[in-house]
Amino acid sequence: MDQSKIDALRAKPVPAFSHLIDGRHCAASDGATMEIISPIDGQVLTTVARGTAKDMETAIASARAAFEDRRWAGQPPAARKKVMMAWADLIEANALELAVLGVRDNGTEIGMALRAEPGSAAATIRYYAEALDKVYGEIAPTQGDILGLVHKEPVGVVGAIIPWNFPLMIGAWKLGPALAMGNSVVLKPAETASLSLMRMAELALEAGLPPGVLNAVTGEGAVVGEAMGLSMDVDVLVFTGSGATGRRLLEYSARSNMKRVYLELGGKSPNIVFADAPDLSEAAKVSAAGIFRNAGQVCVAASRLLVEASIHDDFVAEVVKAAEAMRVGDPLLVDTHIGAVNSETQLRQNLGFVDTARAEGGDVVTGGDRILTETGGYYMAPTVVTGVRPDATLAQKEVFGPVLGVTPFTSDDEAVRIANSTVYGLAGGIWTSNLSRTHRMLRDVRAGVLHVNTYGGPDNTVPLGGMGQSGNGQDKSLHAIEKYINLKTAWIKL
Ligand code: NAD
Repeated sequence: MDQSKIDALRAKPVPAFSHLIDGRHCAASDGATMEIISPIDGQVLTTVARGTAKDMETAIASARAAFEDRRWAGQPPAARKKVMMAWADLIEANALELAVLGVRDNGTEIGMALRAEPGSAAATIRYYAEALDKVYGEIAPTQGDILGLVHKEPVGVVGAIIPWNFPLMIGAWKLGPALAMGNSVVLKPAETASLSLMRMAELALEAGLPPGVLNAVTGEGAVVGEAMGLSMDVDVLVFTGSGATGRRLLEYSARSNMKRVYLELGGKSPNIVFADAPDLSEAAKVSAAGIFRNAGQVCVAASRLLVEASIHDDFVAEVVKAAEAMRVGDPLLVDTHIGAVNSETQLRQNLGFVDTARAEGGDVVTGGDRILTETGGYYMAPTVVTGVRPDATLAQKEVFGPVLGVTPFTSDDEAVRIANSTVYGLAGGIWTSNLSRTHRMLRDVRAGVLHVNTYGGPDNTVPLGGMGQSGNGQDKSLHAIEKYINLKTAWIKL
């Protein structure tokens, strides 16, 4: 990474962003805008259109028209693949610009942002572009003079609501398979991370995606997100974010057209370290990175450390050492390990969780405070709390910040019991050299993604999805495609 190139991009003023509807930029129907505050310094970065319900309805109508006249789904697969490949190339060609814009908006450290945002988004779009002509129907083994065909069709209009932690990566997880299958999409970026995703949507049009096939509307979730959720013309809703919003989306669906709703809702992922882990020192470093990178704002963050009691004190000391070695600060400096917390609200919420953990008997062994910088902005020290009871707030509620709760265990059964004692089931880690124990844990721990002797980093080839209140449906891999197709049976008498 070249610091001087990053500095040059950071010095550029950010233009105001408006909606992207029917291939054109347009302001909110009432002309309203909202300020975008950079978490780096707490200053106004630019404005985006503050969308109205009417704007959302216009965007959905445009997507519906694009779907009905088959301007995208009706193109030969090879033509659609070419457009999506060109889009991935454009994302890659503009990677640094996209990453810096995103970091100025959401505060992720630039090293991680470059890899996880444009880097991952381009790879995802390419993955689904390559897959699009390999998904087709079936001939069923029917009996008698009947031919049974199973067609795979696009569903129609997909509404995609995206969070602020990784807007491009998570955006691409929805856009890639939805567009590859021939759907039209209306995108709703998060209030505090719209800019890079809006730019990525513009690049899709530059790559040749027909107008109306991808529309994007900025604004408040409670206004434009609600209008999307209640629309009679959205067929599928795909979402990553909080459980509270997920519940609302299910209600919106029930109150409107019973649209399909797929939710990815975060977790309270257990990272279980046994005394027989192959390399405890490596386990401590990876465990620290697994919770603290991106200031803990990662849905699969390893936020609960379950440590075998016999190694508890030594292991915690290693984790604390790794945490204290991580540089917190300006996310646009290449040697920063932990960037900014996304917003003042989120930072206050994180600090509130630390206060509650203390009040419930936890011991804050490092961190716990806001870090004040000369430039302002929202920074928090990586925080380790020991003595966290399995039923404590810190063990039960997702913080979505750089706060690690540590709980000891003395047997495999107890580790499993504690691991499964939340409403979530998104991810987890298992550190051991015992093969049988590994497989027992893989069988017994309830989570969509389990890491063994590592944490994080799976690619597009494997699914990501939760169990319990971590959500339903899968992002990534060929399994994600199922969310964006309808099966239609044709029963033909020969
Ligand atoms: P949120 O659920 O409020 O926002 C996520 C998205 O939903 C945003 O685009 C937002 O505009 C939209 N939204 C909000 N209210 C809506 C509504 N009524 N109808 C439709 N859309 C709506 O999440 P947040 O406020 O950004 O973050 C709060 C918490 O969510 C975090 O602390 C964390 O626990 C969780 N979160 C999880 C992930 C994840 O990757 N699983 C990502 C971001 C946030």
